Amino acid sequence: MFLREIQIPVSHIRGVGPTSLKQLKRLGIETVGDLLSWWPRDWDDRTSRQSLAEFERAKSLHSEATVMAHDWFGFGRMRTLKITIQDDEGTIAELICFNRPFLEKQYPVGSRVVVHGHFHWKYGSIQSSSFDIELEQHARAELIPIYSLTAGLTNTQLRKIITRARSEYGRGIDSELPKKIRETCSLPAKQDIVKMMHAPDTLEEARTAARALIFEEFFVFEYALGKRAMERRGKLPEIIQQESVPVEEPASICLSGLQKRIIERLPFTLTDDQLRVVSEINHDLDSVSPMARLLQGDVGSGKTLVAFLTAAAIAERNGQSALLAPTELLARQHAENAARILEPVGIRIAFLTGNIKAAGRSRLLAELADGHIDIVIGTHALFSRGVTYRNLSLVLIDEQHRFGVMQRAAIIEKGREGSPEPRDPHLLMMSATPIPRTLALSVFGDLDVSVIRTMPLGRKPVITHLARHGNEKKVYDFVRHELAQQRQAYFVYPLIEDQDGGSLKSAEMMHEKLEKDIFPGITSELIHSRIPEDEQRAIMHRFREGSTRILVATSVVEVGVDVPNATCMVIEHAERFGLSALHQLRGRVGRGPHQSWCFLVYSGNLTEYGKNRLKVLHETTDGFVIAEEDLRLRGPGDVGGIQQSGYIAFTLADPVRDADILEQARTAAFSLILEESHSL
Ligand code: ADP
Ligand code: MG
Repeated sequence: MFLREIQIPVSHIRGVGPTSLKQLKRLGIETVGDLLSWWPRDWDDRTSRQSLAEFERAKSLHSEATVMAHDWFGFGRMRTLKITIQDDEGTIAELICFNRPFLEKQYPVGSRVVVHGHFHWKYGSIQSSSFDIELEQHARAELIPIYSLTAGLTNTQLRKIITRARSEYGRGIDSELPKKIRETCSLPAKQDIVKMMHAPDTLEEARTAARALIFEEFFVFEYALGKRAMERRGKLPEIIQQESVPVEEPASICLSGLQKRIIERLPFTLTDDQLRVVSEINHDLDSVSPMARLLQGDVGSGKTLVAFLTAAAIAERNGQSALLAPTELLARQHAENAARILEPVGIRIAFLTGNIKAAGRSRLLAELADGHIDIVIGTHALFSRGVTYRNLSLVLIDEQHRFGVMQRAAIIEKGREGSPEPRDPHLLMMSATPIPRTLALSVFGDLDVSVIRTMPLGRKPVITHLARHGNEKKVYDFVRHELAQQRQAYFVYPLIEDQDGGSLKSAEMMHEKLEKDIFPGITSELIHSRIPEDEQRAIMHRFREGSTRILVATSVVEVGVDVPNATCMVIEHAERFGLSALHQLRGRVGRGPHQSWCFLVYSGNLTEYGKNRLKVLHETTDGFVIAEEDLRLRGPGDVGGIQQSGYIAFTLADPVRDADILEQARTAAFSLILEESHSL
């Protein structure tokens, strides 16, 4: 029987009364199966002893000592016992016994005790108020599992209940993993894992068991994912090597005739990475199952061009493409670029957003429906009702992390409707917020991934400086100098308008100040999400052509905006932004031939931790490193877009921390799937 199948109610366990029952229920534990898979979150190693003097080094101390004195402080019901102990080295410590007056009788002066607890330095002495104490003669050297608890239920109680459950019902538990996989990956049997988790002999043993459980979780996940990919696309996703960049064979570059013509007309040559990715994609387009590919590449690495070339290959095959962007601003910019690059070779482009008015719109829709348009570029309006395609063969999603999973699913569904064959259109998603490879494995596990690592030639890395609030005058002086060289600048603020008595600088307030006091005579404009779209468009247009020199903004300029003449990015209250967001913002500069700068102005009272966080940006311009760091500092839930992904629902496993296990499990799961499919 599998562990989760043990449906015996916990009330059957000896000694579990109504109170414990209620407490367990609060933890979601109703069956013996639930109870036995309530894994400890840690183990307290009581097999060794430390001296009290080591309190700062150890997370938790286990010390032998003698009770020296009892004292009381406070009055009435607040009266609290304080026990003074001394270890054999002569170090003295105090135990503050909140709500435990009974300890006075149990541990009289002179008794030898073992104390387990977390100690700290307080009021001039070593103290603990969260400790366990036992008489030395009763103390056993063992590993104590530490469980997550609920009010009223102590660790000792829960541990007892679990021990009983194990002895009464814990036999005959089968492993969920096939024997062969357990053997090749040297994983213990489930029956043993249960014992090793709840009552390990050594810490080593406990860790082996935890590792096996993590493996199992990943295996189940990857197996399901692989199966899904097989059904949908008739093949397994690639297995990405974790240590290094996927080994990219100098793949044979293969371009279509139309792609070659487009490339020849460009004022620059494609980077090797761009060429390789286009070849990979061409290969996908030739295969029987639809492409599902994630294109990752740092800001400015030239993903748009890859998207255009893909759409061109589709147009060559008489298919239609839809390029979806998260904002109208970005969609329009893409449409303009597409018109410039693709129309000269005969590809027909259209731009569609919710704002396009009646007459133009119905003509456009008619052209889409009868196949006169090859590529339509727009916002989510592309997939609204009333939009029909003649032959939608490719869906391109730019800045895909800006779309929630549900939105993405709806788009793909819509694409399927528009597709003439009973199969999905090809899908290419682009992400400029690099998804760390470790997460890409699990979160986007059923996609193939292409990475553009190198920047176009001649791009100078942006130089980043940190400045403390109060020193921003120097930053302004620097920007003034750049403006004098005819360059342009962005100023970014966390808020649109003043809040809470103006403790933070806002874009509105600073726009006024920059225009009046700091850079008088230089045209600046304000842009943020509350300004109507067509006005935003006009503002961006003036900034791009250079009649506006300074753009004061909120993080709306984070995605896509491409103005090569802008060389300064000043972000005030930088500590308010996530690292990946800052990196995105920084990516707005350094897009032209001139050296560019990014200034992160942080609040004077920023903690050391906060400052170190910002330093990551100073030290590297590699978006992947930054994303990994962001992930490490904030956890996966906070990294752009992933919280909505709904994929990360592991109990013990952590795809970042346990990346090596994940990869092992993925390899094992996929090889099992392959074996199964061969034996059919
Ligand atoms: P992102 O990957 O961030 O979407 P873009 O596609 O917007 O980047 O490209 C940024 C800029 O780089 C654009 O102005 C684009 O025309 C330019 N670009 C793209 N590929 C190359 C290349 N191979 N050499 C030089 N410039 C390039
Ligand atoms: Mg882009």
